[in-house]
Amino acid sequence: MISEGAVNAIYHGEIVSTTPNTPKNHTAFNYREAEPMQGTQAERFLVLHMETVNGKARSSEEIKASMAQTYTMPMDFNDMIDRIERYNGANGIIFSPESLLVKRIETLVNALQDHRIQIKACGSMDEEYYTKILYALDTRVNLWLLECMEHENREDVNDNLIDFGQLITQIALRDFRIDLPPCFKMITTTKKRPAADDNTTSNAAPRTNSKKQKENKVMVRNENQYAPFKLKNNEHYRDTFCGGEKAKKRPMFKSTQICGKWNIQGYCFDNCNMTESHVPHSEYSAEQKVAFGEWMKFCREAGGSK
Ligand SMILES: [Zn+2]
Repeated sequence: MISEGAVNAIYHGEIVSTTPNTPKNHTAFNYREAEPMQGTQAERFLVLHMETVNGKARSSEEIKASMAQTYTMPMDFNDMIDRIERYNGANGIIFSPESLLVKRIETLVNALQDHRIQIKACGSMDEEYYTKILYALDTRVNLWLLECMEHENREDVNDNLIDFGQLITQIALRDFRIDLPPCFKMITTTKKRPAADDNTTSNAAPRTNSKKQKENKVMVRNENQYAPFKLKNNEHYRDTFCGGEKAKKRPMFKSTQICGKWNIQGYCFDNCNMTESHVPHSEYSAEQKVAFGEWMKFCREAGGSK
């Protein structure tokens, strides 16, 4: 079972959570065993189905309006494992069963099973313990996905983020500590829906500065992409538009180059060194648009860079 908001988000390609400290969209918290249907649930599922069928042209505002996502905490060891396995099943569909992420999470599940006695002991003393493990997993995967979106070269992506060895060691030594962000606490104390866009400053496990900076970078979306610049269906942004000569030849806007991610992929990050060009395309001059179009043509003709 997965919440309506999450289904919507994933259907529209919103996989990562762009709000620091708040699991959203494709998160382990959203996958759990279905509960018996009660009251209005059946209707809600029906509505969702209709929206999805007719929903291809919905504006981002409408999608945001239906983004409400709530989740419940895992209450025991089996519930936690069950959620991770369902989540990883979805990972297999989204990223392929052979992807690094799926393999790493499979390894994590095996390791958690190996340490089930210690985990259950900790869980009996701390009712949030299973939630904390899930949150630690979720935070790491989300950071890694953001890295995958940010870096132009695959080898720049920090795969250590989804190496769960350290997490397992901490669990095995009973040294695993993490503070849950307030969005979780609100659920348990007041039974209210978490304020999804509440930018909280409370942080999780101790982190180095650089990691913290990465976590706090915010994705920015180009809501009004210029159609001729959009990535084609069969194209891979990194392969087609990145790499040595291509990066050098990008045309200029004011004091920076024109950001390819912003214009071609339709999103970028607030730590980009071309943020000055993260503006509606109407602010580019006709010459700049022509130059950018020609640069795209040059990249396409130059072929894959890898
Ligand atoms: Zn950018």
